[in-house]
Amino acid sequence: MLIGVPLETVAGETRVAVTPETAKKLKAQGHTMRVQSGAGIAAAATDEAYAAAGAEITDRAGAFGCELVLKVRAPDADELSLMKPGTALVGMLNPFDKDALARIAAAQLTSFALEAAPRTTRAQSMDVLSSQANVAGYKAVMMAADKYQRLFPMLMTAAGTIKAARIVILGVGVAGLQAIATAKRLGAVIEASDVRPSVKEQVESLGAKFIDVAYETAEEKEAAEGVGGYARPMPQSWLDRQKIEVAKRVAAADIVISTALIPGRAAPVLITEEMVKSMKPGSVIVDMAAPAGGNCPLTEAGKTVVKHGVTLVGETNIPALVAADSSSLYARNVLDFLKLVLTKEATFNVPMDDDIVVACLMTQSGEVKRK
Ligand code: NAD
Repeated sequence: MLIGVPLETVAGETRVAVTPETAKKLKAQGHTMRVQSGAGIAAAATDEAYAAAGAEITDRAGAFGCELVLKVRAPDADELSLMKPGTALVGMLNPFDKDALARIAAAQLTSFALEAAPRTTRAQSMDVLSSQANVAGYKAVMMAADKYQRLFPMLMTAAGTIKAARIVILGVGVAGLQAIATAKRLGAVIEASDVRPSVKEQVESLGAKFIDVAYETAEEKEAAEGVGGYARPMPQSWLDRQKIEVAKRVAAADIVISTALIPGRAAPVLITEEMVKSMKPGSVIVDMAAPAGGNCPLTEAGKTVVKHGVTLVGETNIPALVAADSSSLYARNVLDFLKLVLTKEATFNVPMDDDIVVACLMTQSGEVKRK
């Protein structure tokens, strides 16, 4: 099969869907790899490295003119016009963007959005949300450390003692857990909050403290259990009690890293302006929910701003700041997904009895398949 790997063109996107390592593996499976010149350069993968892996270096039209196109981000109208009807497309296509999916369907592409894979054991190796959130959770702590004008660990020196940084993590999914682990390694004192009670044990096993907010009604308990491992919007009664507990911790914190998301909805507001005002000057908030509107209304997407003496980081594509490792993990996710749709004879098929394939299938034969 002819497989194309274009250079990503979304502003700030540095990742690439195929690395020289995965290009070599696909080539060994009998495919012809066409990589657009410069596609991997921002992720430390040179044209020479792809050529050494057996790929052909091509131009933009060459990469999009293949039978299967592997991307990081959804194609724009111009990129869609370069793909022939019937082309297969795999990427992070944003399953909630109905308009973009309609455009992909109109271009007659068979497309798969890897973010839609179920959170099951079999799908773990192709779980792009996890692989990218893991990188982002680490990098968020690095960004906080960079903006914070103090140190993380407690230091007892001849010149006096420095107190350990107090960090609050809001939302303990994949990114939040990695943020806890990373901040812990740097010596910070950490407290964390999540709506899902199952998270408490994970937080404590990483040496952090869980901010307990009791579930008082059946409705609260049911909502907290979520669906498919994901959070659901919590009843206002619980959110009010969570707010009181979080506000106390935020006022005492040096750094807040917030990651709270509800799939397909605006991120919940967890850090109010009042809470920001209560923080010490020089404190830092890294709002990882910035792409979904932010967990703090003062966050400005794509910017780092200082408000009420607090630095708010609203970076919207944190994995792209660690392009080499996020690409290498993403490329392995893509390679694993392709095992489900590429045959031993190096042809393409869509097994409709495979739950992962069916969940990821977004468009086929001119129709949006996503429910
Ligand atoms: P996510 O990015 O969708 O959300 C981040 C976190 O925010 C979640 O933990 C969520 O509960 C939390 N949150 C939402 N509203 C909140 C609020 N008001 N206050 C505090 N926290 C709030 O989450 P994710 O990292 O994608 O993980 C989602 C789930 O998938 C988790 O249960 C995770 O363990 C599970 N998971 C399973 C697998 C697998 O089994 N293969 C792999 C990865 C993740």
